[in-house]
Amino acid sequence: MEENEIYKKQPLILIVDDTVENLHVLGNVLKTENYKIAVATNGRQAIAVANDIRPDLILMDIMMPGMDGYETCKKLKNIPETSAIPLIFLTAKIDNEDIIKGFKVGAVDYITKPFNSYELKARVRTHIELKISRDLLQQKNEILEKLSITDGLTGLFNHRYIIDTLARLVDENKRYRQPLSIAIFDIDNFKRVNDKYGHLFGDEVLVKVASFIESTLRKTDMVGRYGGEEFLVLFVLTDLKGAVKSAKRIVDGVEKIKWEKKDLNVTVSGGVCEKTNEDISDLIKKADDLLYLAKEKGKNRIEY
Ligand code: GH3
Ligand code: MG
Ligand code: MG
Repeated sequence: MEENEIYKKQPLILIVDDTVENLHVLGNVLKTENYKIAVATNGRQAIAVANDIRPDLILMDIMMPGMDGYETCKKLKNIPETSAIPLIFLTAKIDNEDIIKGFKVGAVDYITKPFNSYELKARVRTHIELKISRDLLQQKNEILEKLSITDGLTGLFNHRYIIDTLARLVDENKRYRQPLSIAIFDIDNFKRVNDKYGHLFGDEVLVKVASFIESTLRKTDMVGRYGGEEFLVLFVLTDLKGAVKSAKRIVDGVEKIKWEKKDLNVTVSGGVCEKTNEDISDLIKKADDLLYLAKEKGKNRIEY
């Protein structure tokens, strides 16, 4: 969801009360504030509805037959999908220990009945605003997290992330001895593409080759932009034979990509190897040396 969509979204409030009359009164008060309202008449239903519609706030009665408000609140706080939804108790119970218990089970606020509708609306507004700020912050963090691991041009993982991931896999490989193979691909004569068609078109070629390589991989494999026109592929739980097969498919496939420039022919070369006892830098060097050999042997091929 876009950032301003969170702002624009009409806040959704779930009200929970076993007395239908109370739901009506509360609903009418809140409707003047342009909230969307959903209702539930018992704890079990409240949990199901909250899970389903993910409201921005829950207003809940405490004394209800069956599962009471405290119990329902505790359950909601234990479900990952509903735990972050702010909950306000609205109740005729006014003893200190009742209030303390309400906060202990996870409520953010407590309003006693009969309520003053001005106060109720003010408190609801405050908690809705807090909720929206939290959502925005979380969304921004997710975007930043994604940006920090993504290569800006190709959308593949960036150099640091793909290397960090390889380091982790190399580590796991040492412990569990499951196969791990890698390949480094480099676009052939890419300088000529830039020289002949311009850097911007060169960028387009990079993007297309990158997304083609990505499209050929299995879900568990990963590819990152290793350098300018170089890509590092991690073939997870794959031996050399499997990696070679996939790498050949990449070389053959890139050669067949159709370009809008008629006389353009883009190819890649690759070095493919399986990890044995090397550390990460030796493993990368092994792939790099093989890539160099593929270039020497005429390009548009792999060595392994
Ligand atoms: P080889 O077949 O031996 O790999 O030859 P090559 O021309 O591909 O290799 P070389 O290393 O001489 O040149 C790589 C070129 O890639 C030079 C550089 O300008 C270009 N390049 C690197 N990053 C980018 C980029 O982000 N965009 C564009 N358009 N070009 C890039
Ligand atoms: Mg190159
Ligand atoms: Mg290169």
